[in-house]
Amino acid sequence: MFHAQVLTLFPEFFVSPLSCSIPKRAIEADLVHVDCIQIRDFSTGKHHKVDDNPYGGGPGMVMKPEPLVATIREARRRDADTHVVMLTPAGVPFTQNKALEYVEKQHLTLLCGRYEGFDERICDYVDEQLSVGDYVLSGGEAAALCVLDAVIRLLPGVLGSPESAVLDSFSEEGILDWPHYTRPEEFEGKKVPSELLSGNHAEIERWRREQSRLRSQQRRDKL
Ligand code: SAM
Repeated sequence: MFHAQVLTLFPEFFVSPLSCSIPKRAIEADLVHVDCIQIRDFSTGKHHKVDDNPYGGGPGMVMKPEPLVATIREARRRDADTHVVMLTPAGVPFTQNKALEYVEKQHLTLLCGRYEGFDERICDYVDEQLSVGDYVLSGGEAAALCVLDAVIRLLPGVLGSPESAVLDSFSEEGILDWPHYTRPEEFEGKKVPSELLSGNHAEIERWRREQSRLRSQQRRDKL
């Protein structure tokens, strides 16, 4: 079973997304187990403070190293094999290949930041820094959900048809999925491409591959 741990100040963030659709089914089928660990529980002191002013001045607060390191140590204590990933816009880009890499590892811990981010010294306590894209979220939780969702749907047995994941965008590096259509055959004057109605499997396959190639070339400058 895949074991994920999420280190966060907002465990409640994960309740709804993990209790519907594919993640819900994967959890119920014991294909994945997700534990949230509350960072604030590892902050000593009366007020359980987790942030402080930045050295050098400037706006915003910085996440203090002590509770973060204590939380990471707890995650490693609970799962000695876990791979600890810090979520940060400055990390390596998250890709489908990265998701496959995490599936192989079977043990993943996602560290979610808030405020202006982490005290830089935390970098020495994690295995990797990961970004979900070149934009800034208010917290690492939404990024952790992206990662969890992408990983969960790749776990063997999670998708109804294992073919789905194999045929998705990026299953081949940089290649986007082809366009999909369903009934009706004509909608507001827009027709389903005739190739898909031909019943000729070789022709359908050829059309789909060509559409994938064109899209990848036009939208991702691939090929
Ligand atoms: N001051 C930081 C910067 O400019 O890079 C942004 C901090 S952001 C408001 C708070 C937290 O959200 C970060 O510590 C990180 O955990 C998470 N976060 C925001 N954008 C992210 C992204 N693109 N990828 C991964 N995590 C992100």
